[in-house]
Amino acid sequence: MSTAILPVYGPSPIVFERGEGVRLYDDAGKSYLDFIAGIAVNSLGHAHPSLVKALNEQAGKLWHLSNMYRISGQERLAQRYADLTFADKVFFTNSGAEAIEASIKIARRYHWAKGETERATILSFTGSFHGRTYAGINAGGQDKYREGFGPRLPGFATLPYGDHEALRGAIVEPHVAAVLIEPVQGEGGVREVPQQCLQGLRELCTEHGVLLIYDEVQCGAGRTGQLFHHQWMTGADPDILAAAKGIGGGFPMGACLVTDEAASGMAKGVHGSTFGGGPLAMAVGNAVLDVIMEDGFLETVRRVSGTLTQGLESLKDRYPELVVGVTGRGLLRGLRMTRDPLPLRATLAERGLLVGTAGDNVLRLAPPLIVTDDDVREAVDAIDQALNAMITAAGS
Ligand code: PLP
Repeated sequence: MSTAILPVYGPSPIVFERGEGVRLYDDAGKSYLDFIAGIAVNSLGHAHPSLVKALNEQAGKLWHLSNMYRISGQERLAQRYADLTFADKVFFTNSGAEAIEASIKIARRYHWAKGETERATILSFTGSFHGRTYAGINAGGQDKYREGFGPRLPGFATLPYGDHEALRGAIVEPHVAAVLIEPVQGEGGVREVPQQCLQGLRELCTEHGVLLIYDEVQCGAGRTGQLFHHQWMTGADPDILAAAKGIGGGFPMGACLVTDEAASGMAKGVHGSTFGGGPLAMAVGNAVLDVIMEDGFLETVRRVSGTLTQGLESLKDRYPELVVGVTGRGLLRGLRMTRDPLPLRATLAERGLLVGTAGDNVLRLAPPLIVTDDDVREAVDAIDQALNAMITAAGS
């Protein structure tokens, strides 16, 4: 393994050479069923023909254009997201963290432009993850990502996840600009915020003139069976939403979706990005959306999610000493374990199934949205056998 790489990751020794659909192939030709998809990134699997075509066609025409020129693919994609969601305006970025940065800046600037210059605090929740930029780690609800990186920035406060009283107490403060929340916490353990909590949060924000920001970087892009997760609910639309990962299907891109009202502080020169919204990303982003919005695509995601739920629940029933909960929604799922899930993840990789982990004790599954019922049964069987082997090993 290269010593020339900054050692902030601990990659597995497997070397993948190519991917096709839900399968990855290593340099020895071994096939793996990919149930983590780059952590919810390869939403349409690997080398999806429509995405390959869109990228190749665009690559032969125009790679980069500054945002000082009109980018037709960007205009089209922004309008499509506006038509499909609560949003009126879209700002494109290269990553999730940048979409979070844009969201925070838009929220603060909204109040500033209204003369409420003290309203700058972003409230967020323990366990949350909002990316690795300086604002992202300060907004995030996990101390470990801030350790050693200097003083905590002012203007951020973390509330205990699920503590409604703490939220009611904090949101009335005149310095609060916005509440930032993942409707399904990813890194924090694949936890879905109950519907009535998001609806209550929406009401509280409106009542106190505070903006509501959703971080759907991980749970958006069709992953839970709607284009964006909050679209399962009525009366819970945000003012601002950060998206990334799956909306680019593996090509780096993010987006900040915002209502006209929340965007009212943004004007020419106030924010920007060299690469965000560039022609290559926009070509792929449009192609991803074409597939996700095809008739029946999200219905199939929901149906296959049902098969996954049944399979995971059956594992919980069969191995209560190892699995104590099935969490998440759609194709973003967690198996809450009674022990560190890392050894299980390694065993599964040896058996040809790639999964992730989240929090301290959750095995995380985020397969491409194109998985079939058969793929799901194969994955559940592999986990079943690995859990069975753990029980047998413990008894011997
Ligand atoms: N927000 C959430 C919920 C995420 O899961 C992530 C990445 O895992 C981010 C933000 C940051 O996205 P990126 O790594 O693209 O900057």
